[in-house]
Amino acid sequence: MSSLKESISRHIRAHGPMSLAQYMSEALMHPTHGYYTNETVFGSQGDFITAPEISQVFGELVGLWAADLWQRAGTPSPFQLVELGPGHGTLMADALRVTRVAPGFHDALHLSLIEGSPQLRLKQAERLAPSGIAPSWYDGLADVPDRGPAIIIANEFFDALPIRQYVFDGDRWMERRVGLNGQDDLAYTHMAGHPAESCLPSEPPKKGDVLETCMSAISVMRAISEQLLGTGGAALIVDYGYARPAYGDTFQAMRRHKFVDPLAEPGLADLTAHVNFATLARVALDLGLTVHGPVDQGAWLTRLGIGARTQQLVVAAKSPRQAENLAAASRRLVDSDQMGTLFRVMAVTSPNWPTPVGFEDAS
Ligand code: SAH
Repeated sequence: MSSLKESISRHIRAHGPMSLAQYMSEALMHPTHGYYTNETVFGSQGDFITAPEISQVFGELVGLWAADLWQRAGTPSPFQLVELGPGHGTLMADALRVTRVAPGFHDALHLSLIEGSPQLRLKQAERLAPSGIAPSWYDGLADVPDRGPAIIIANEFFDALPIRQYVFDGDRWMERRVGLNGQDDLAYTHMAGHPAESCLPSEPPKKGDVLETCMSAISVMRAISEQLLGTGGAALIVDYGYARPAYGDTFQAMRRHKFVDPLAEPGLADLTAHVNFATLARVALDLGLTVHGPVDQGAWLTRLGIGARTQQLVVAAKSPRQAENLAAASRRLVDSDQMGTLFRVMAVTSPNWPTPVGFEDAS
C-alpha cells in the first residue's frame, strides 16, 4: 500500500469517512506524497498532456491575446501577469517569447505564479529562465502584492480543485464520502449532507442524480473577481467543463493516459472533475464583472489565428515529419473530436476593460 493511502486510511479510522474534497486535496497536494509534489505528471511520458505541452502555438496565442488586451487597455504600467497552476511553465515560456514583439509589454509586467507544489516551482523557474523575466511565486491570489491591473491566466487549473459530491436517493441528498470497506480498502460511503443551494440546477433531481459542488473553485473565482474589481484587468480560464448547471459524476483519475479507479492509488494518479463554468460565471457576474463566453477552445483558437501561425511553423519546419507533427498538434487542440469542444474558454473583465479577442460576439 502506498504511504499516502496508509495515511488516508489512518485518518479515516480516527475521524470517520472524509469528503471527496479532502481526499482530492490530500491526493493531489499532500506536501510529500501528493501527486503534484511527486510525479512526472505531464507530457507524453507522464499521465496526461495539456494544451501547452501539445503545441507551442497554444501559449503563443495566449501571450498575444494578453498583449493585445493590455495594449487596448491603454498599456498600463506596471501591471501584473498572473498564472494559476503553471505546471511546467510551458505556456508562460511560449507566451513570453512571442510577446517580445509587443513594445513595452515586458518592461511593464510583474510575473506572479500561483503554484502549490515546490517541485513544480523549480521546473517553472528553469523553463522561464531564458525569458529573462524573474517570476515571484505565491500560494494564493490573496498573497500577490498590489501592482496595478492584472491579467490572470488559468489553463487546466480549476479542474484540479477539490469537489464534493452528493447523490439524491429519491428523498434527500446524501454526501458521497471516502471510507473503508470490510477489507480495509478505500471505498465510497454515503452520509447525510446537503449541497449548497447556490449549486443546485433549476430542474429537480431524480433518484440517483449526482451533484458536484466546488467551493474551492468558487472561492478562487471570488478572489479573481475581487482582484479585478480592485485593480482593473481580465482573467482567462481554459478547462474542460460544462456551460450550464447539470447533474452528473465527472470525478476521474488518470494514470499513464488511461482512466483508473480514483480510490486505487492516491498520490499516483491525477484526480480531476469537470469545471462548472456556469457557477464560476455567476460568481463574477454577481460581483459586477463582465463575463465573456464560455466558447469552445477550437473556435477561440481559430479566431486568434491558429491556422496562420501553424502554417508559418509548417513552412519553416526542418523536415516533412516535423511539419506533419506541428499540423497534427494544432488539429488536436482545435478538432471537435479531440480537445476543440470538450475544452472551453471563458474570460472575465473589469467594467473599464475592453472585450478580449476571441469573444467579440460571446458576451
Ligand atoms: N497549467 C498547466 C498545468 C495544469 S496541472 C498546463 O496547462 O500544463 C494543474 C496545476 O495546478 C499544477 O501546476 C498544480 O501543481 C497546480 N495546482 C493544483 N491545485 C493547486 C492548488 N490548490 N493551489 C496551487 N496550485 C495548484
